Amino acid sequence: MTVKKLKFGVFLYQPEPVEGVDFNFYRIKPESGTVGKPNPEMYTNIAVFGDNALAAKRPDWISVSAYGPAFRTNKRFNLRWDVLCMTNPEVREYNLKLIEECAHKTPGISISSQHFAEHAFCTCPRCVEMWRISGLNWIDWRAETVTEFLKEVRERVVGKPLFVNCLPDPLLGKARFGYDFDAMAEYTDYFVIPMFSKAYPTPWYWETIARGYKSFLKKPVFVNFYVRGPGETWDTVATTKQIMTVATRVARTGVDGIIFLAEKADYIREFQKNAVAEKETREFLKDHGGDEVLELFNRWEKLV
Ligand SMILES: [Zn+2]
Repeated sequence: MTVKKLKFGVFLYQPEPVEGVDFNFYRIKPESGTVGKPNPEMYTNIAVFGDNALAAKRPDWISVSAYGPAFRTNKRFNLRWDVLCMTNPEVREYNLKLIEECAHKTPGISISSQHFAEHAFCTCPRCVEMWRISGLNWIDWRAETVTEFLKEVRERVVGKPLFVNCLPDPLLGKARFGYDFDAMAEYTDYFVIPMFSKAYPTPWYWETIARGYKSFLKKPVFVNFYVRGPGETWDTVATTKQIMTVATRVARTGVDGIIFLAEKADYIREFQKNAVAEKETREFLKDHGGDEVLELFNRWEKLV
């Protein structure tokens, strides 16, 4: 196996970084829509069109479809947050300004929900009119809209790395969310694939998705695993052993980085301590082809 340098990061909802990783991301504006203050020591993550707070304030800005609006209450879709129309000029400018400010003050930018809510969105009068004028078919117009927004983001993130999060569907990403991966690769430095789950009993599926994405994305690919998000207890999330196993198995697909999500630094520190203590699991995971993850656990021994 060729030696490559796998990077590691954490994805946190509070502006306190942890030791023992290459990238600390602070979710300054998660999909709840709350906005914190930039931390110059942490990369900044901004959820763009998924914004519950703004959707509550301006419900008329919600993205719409023949099957109803993109509120979380619409059970026709798996919407984990309210999604605003991505051609709304006020929403775009509001987010682009925040992105630009954070790009000045912090080491780099990560964006999430910078795409359409699902395949049926958005059929508001403005989107339909823009589609009509474009002369493109519906799927291509939506993809062009997503790429054009990313291009505008890139123009605000000058000389700093840009990470773009894409939902874990390597097959139908274009039809569902408007991802034209080749076009997007021109404007991003890294792709990040969130692989959030409250349990990882079957790593095979996550490995499959990671391998699929790695096979065609033209920029480095990171994945993101769920350690302990907001509102969870240690009993409602995956065991440390499951996360260690899925990370090691996904590492062997050739991905370039692995990120761990937690509400705050304390939970990552506890996860680091637990991973170090899992001696049997670390021994078992040898020879899986994901040794760089095991080396990470070795490095964490010095922290705990
Ligand atoms: Zn629209």
